[in-house]
Amino acid sequence: MADGTRFILPESAIPTSWYNIVADLPSPPPPPLHPGRLDPVGPGDLAPLFPMAIIMQEVSNERYIPIPEEVLEVYKLWRPTPLYRAHRLEKALELPKGVRIFYKYEGTSPAGSHKPNTAVPQAYYAKQEGVERLATETGAGQWGSALSFAGSIFDIDVKVYMVKISFAQKPYRRAMMETWGAQCVASPSLDTNAGRAILAADPDSTGSLGIAISEAVEDAATREDTKYALGSVLNHVLLHQTVVGQEAVAQMEMADAYPDVVVGCVGGGSNFAGITFPFIQEKLTKGRKTRIVAVEPAACPTLTRGVYAYDYGDTAKMAPIVKMHTLGHSFMPAGIHAGGLRYHGMAPLVSLLYDQGIIEAEAVKQRAAFESAVLFARTEGILPAPEPSHAIRVTIEEALRAKEAGEDKTILFNLCGHGHFDLVAYDKYLAGDLPDYEHPQSEIDAALSGLPSVAE
Ligand SMILES: *Cc1c(COP(=O)(O)O)cnc(C)c1O
Repeated sequence: MADGTRFILPESAIPTSWYNIVADLPSPPPPPLHPGRLDPVGPGDLAPLFPMAIIMQEVSNERYIPIPEEVLEVYKLWRPTPLYRAHRLEKALELPKGVRIFYKYEGTSPAGSHKPNTAVPQAYYAKQEGVERLATETGAGQWGSALSFAGSIFDIDVKVYMVKISFAQKPYRRAMMETWGAQCVASPSLDTNAGRAILAADPDSTGSLGIAISEAVEDAATREDTKYALGSVLNHVLLHQTVVGQEAVAQMEMADAYPDVVVGCVGGGSNFAGITFPFIQEKLTKGRKTRIVAVEPAACPTLTRGVYAYDYGDTAKMAPIVKMHTLGHSFMPAGIHAGGLRYHGMAPLVSLLYDQGIIEAEAVKQRAAFESAVLFARTEGILPAPEPSHAIRVTIEEALRAKEAGEDKTILFNLCGHGHFDLVAYDKYLAGDLPDYEHPQSEIDAALSGLPSVAE
């Protein structure tokens, strides 16, 4: 057991391919369906929305997909990212020697989260295919920032539809996007039919990711020069994020340790997939017994209280229907500060793994998450984003449980972003002004009554 604090890989250790978990799954994932026809979508259906290289990755069964040289060059701006042993947090929790906490830190990217890992290849492939403009949605603003950064690198215009409540809570994310040259509007906006329809029905709508996706998809589908880019959920996004876990596998080896538990927060599932899929590969193919835990907010409990069914990815029913854990496409999450975790659905690959019992899930309330975030900041120094603070909470609970039981346990979690743009939320927490939400079952039931009926 090496005793270091910060495990740093050389630039030459940046992974040269992405890992595609589809190649190692016990059964293939259910196909996405056309939102109108309700039959499987083909590459032709997706062509108006995505570059062809992205579509091919979305449906690929290849285990490893090479990362283009131009993308690796950009990754070098911040990759490999560090992996830390949380010595000071362990000490504060008075953990015995056998209980150890590690974290992989993705907040060192230009946008401050894991999102550029996929924004960069998505902008690269778009540029390769002559796309001039990308349209997208953003919740907390992290994805919009990441795509704006990638757009500036590859000289592509970016239009971001930002969920209105986050637009108000996080004005500096918009400034960041604009600094990188992107255009950012509050969603629902007056710029699309989808946005205008929502505003006509509810002028005070605070927006949702489902609505913002509808706006961005409509924008891309109705303009010749524009494609759509999604920051989570889809297979190719999860694929791109696996650089995180591949590095972490190598870094845990440097630390002469192997995790018994790997923890990640889940919104759409991409940072969770990024850190866990390479460990799940070792679980599926090498008989490792690693526990894999997905952590979601109690206010948007997609895995723990949703159903595994075909549902629309967006509110206006324009995006493909996928089989996933869902709270219903009309679900309106409470205004919690972990904006990145407020999606009604879940990545189909993460849903499949949960359905098959390969991963576990837990829900955490926002005050408990912030309590852990503050302890983390006061021991490890880094101010975590609200989203990974949910993973920190569960990591701490796992560690304390092991301590109580007198067991040895090594826990790894993904610190997928910093919280420098989330200080309004920290302010509220510190002032004792941050409410807890738990979604009423009646509202979940109402949203679930609108699922499409699909013969299976
Ligand atoms: C976007 C984001 C999330 C949620 O998205 P996933 O696809 O579930 O990773 C979580 N944390 C941070 C820091 C984010 O930027």
